[in-house]
Amino acid sequence: MPYTTYLVEKGSSHSFVAEAKPPTVTMPRIKALMTGSLPGFIDVVRNLNSPTLLEDNVITRAKAAGKRIIFYGDETWVKLFPKHFVEYDGTTSFFVSDYTEVDDNVTRHLDKVLKRHDWDVLILHYLGLDHIGHISGPNSPLIGRKLSEMDSVLMKIHTSLLSEERETLLPNLLVLCGDHGMSEAGGHGASSVEEVNTAMILISSAFERKPGDLRRPKYIQQTDLAATLSIGLGLPIPKSSIGNLIFPVVEGKPMREQLRFLHLNTVQLSKLLQENVPSYKKGPRAASAQRPPGTERQGR
Ligand SMILES: [Zn+2]
Repeated sequence: MPYTTYLVEKGSSHSFVAEAKPPTVTMPRIKALMTGSLPGFIDVVRNLNSPTLLEDNVITRAKAAGKRIIFYGDETWVKLFPKHFVEYDGTTSFFVSDYTEVDDNVTRHLDKVLKRHDWDVLILHYLGLDHIGHISGPNSPLIGRKLSEMDSVLMKIHTSLLSEERETLLPNLLVLCGDHGMSEAGGHGASSVEEVNTAMILISSAFERKPGDLRRPKYIQQTDLAATLSIGLGLPIPKSSIGNLIFPVVEGKPMREQLRFLHLNTVQLSKLLQENVPSYKKGPRAASAQRPPGTERQGR
């Protein structure tokens, strides 16, 4: 992936290894990415018949804030968010033997949608790489070709965003990530290192360019994305998110803003603790410290 490699090493980007918790299957992983919380194992059973996501999440918050969201790809998203997208085209992941049409069905929308300026969030979930894993494993010659195809897709999107920014002068954020990894045998679902380690690359002209940063990427949690996207979009962090703001993303901001972002994350996490850990309130000092001044709970 030469273009992606260039962005990772020299571009305005931050790259990480994001750890996905098992079960490493699509539906619970999309939930983890969008809610910042960890769904139970029951989700494995429901993986083929995903119900609407009722838990607080980034998509629902974004829609409520008037953001126009477009989705193309794995139809699991459409099942989780049936009324959230202003436009969508879901692709079934049922025919694992197909690794061409599943992706063409996403890419065919790109030229058109990238020229439009009537959306705020675009989500693409490609399936081909996963399907090649299932068919012929991670060392298949098909993998290289597919990665090359994905690299061109990323280049197309990035180039288009940069040219749009020349007009709007507002930075975009491009997130490249996997919902789960791939085992040595080509499958996923369990907890081997290859299955839980996923790439997460955040690309934005708001970040500083790097002079050839070849250090090994830091480890974060897959659940950190929800809090980070919420803060980036100016939305409330989902209530049950256990994630941390991915700090390098805001490092270029003034100190006062950085502190504000950390404060938002901390208040949300402490509320979650308060609601879920019975011993949280026990100490009188903890009780008085749990709410920052000016954020008293509204009478309900
Ligand atoms: Zn799969």
